[in-house]
Amino acid sequence: MSEVIAVRNDIILNMEIEVGHYILNPQQQNNESGGNYELHNADTCPHLPNATHALTLGHFNDCHLAMEEAKRRVPKWADQIDGCAWCCPKCNKG
Ligand SMILES: [Zn+2]
Repeated sequence: MSEVIAVRNDIILNMEIEVGHYILNPQQQNNESGGNYELHNADTCPHLPNATHALTLGHFNDCHLAMEEAKRRVPKWADQIDGCAWCCPKCNKG
């Protein structure tokens, strides 16, 4: 019984962490970093790009929704947008 409660608390905690104000870094990463455009949660990320380079996407409940918005905004980057490994690990392809 106590294990069930612990798991539920983990799920709620994860959801709280993911809710946030998402941004896209329009400066392409170098090839060693994958050559991607990185999606970040500006509320939690310890490695945010310079604010002047951030494209604001808005407030989303998780990185997957923010990713959809990023692809809708910039369709030409759709295959290159990747979640930041620090703040959007569920959307990070590596
Ligand atoms: Zn990040």
